[in-house]
Amino acid sequence: MSYEGRMTEDLAMPERRLIETSLLKCLFLHGGVIREFGEGEPVVQQLADEFHLNDRQRRETLKTMYRKENRRKTSLLWHRLLFRAATALARKNLVSRPTETFRLTNRREWMLTEKGFDEAIKLSDIPISRKDSLLVASFEVQEIARAIAERPKPENYNPIDTSKKTVTRVANRLLRQRGFRQAVVEAYGHKCAMCGLKLASPDRLSWEVEAAHIVPSYARGRDDIWNGVALCRLHHWAFDIGWLTFSVDYQIQVSHAVDRLPPDDGIMGGYEFIRAPADKPMALCLPNRREMHPDPAAIRWHNQHVFNRQQRT
Ligand SMILES: [Zn+2]
Repeated sequence: MSYEGRMTEDLAMPERRLIETSLLKCLFLHGGVIREFGEGEPVVQQLADEFHLNDRQRRETLKTMYRKENRRKTSLLWHRLLFRAATALARKNLVSRPTETFRLTNRREWMLTEKGFDEAIKLSDIPISRKDSLLVASFEVQEIARAIAERPKPENYNPIDTSKKTVTRVANRLLRQRGFRQAVVEAYGHKCAMCGLKLASPDRLSWEVEAAHIVPSYARGRDDIWNGVALCRLHHWAFDIGWLTFSVDYQIQVSHAVDRLPPDDGIMGGYEFIRAPADKPMALCLPNRREMHPDPAAIRWHNQHVFNRQQRT
């Protein structure tokens, strides 16, 4: 038995498989990413607490001799075991290695892959049906979200994808949708652009805010940041149905049908959710980066095809 194996056994350290399971759950609860294990990283302590490690189990060090370089390295046994478990998860394609994640996020992190995400959902006893609403990063979705957030805007941007095939593989479409949502919601700081609402679920894994298409998918609207806006569910519905829109200078507009609205409709507590923007001008809360703001062509499309259509009824 190796020196490390003997030490692991003598100290009754937790089994590799158990550490792998805890790591997957831990990644999930940390939004899909954890920093590479270093001394003082809170997650190293958290996992040690989870296994009720005693002082000796936490502090015992391994001394490795590198003959070629004639160098001796001392490392914590617990770190080493965490690292080995994470490497085993990477070999099974359940997480990406810090070197791979670094190319994507510029941070040395372990990140769930789609396969790891599915596994972690199962382990965490969360219904798989909730997957699409979870804001947990996966390497594949993060790649798409980054491409969406970083893509330079073409001149004469057209928010409608005229070449868009109506039949795309379902798996690809779902990944793209999650990538779009992640990019838009992050750009808007997880806040509704109309009311500023920011709210996560009690387990902080899902956000209330959604990424709305300005030109909707059914009209071949592109999954681009310039064709998106973050809205709470209520404002998303009101926007899609044509109660509300915004002008090219980002002022919220309310349908004239508001004049015919029964007096007790559209009120939440004291908040006049439909009338408020009609009574006094209200601007959208937009991302700081101007290049991420909704494109005028997309806005005009929504004004014309969704909003004005409602005005005529
Ligand atoms: Zn809202």
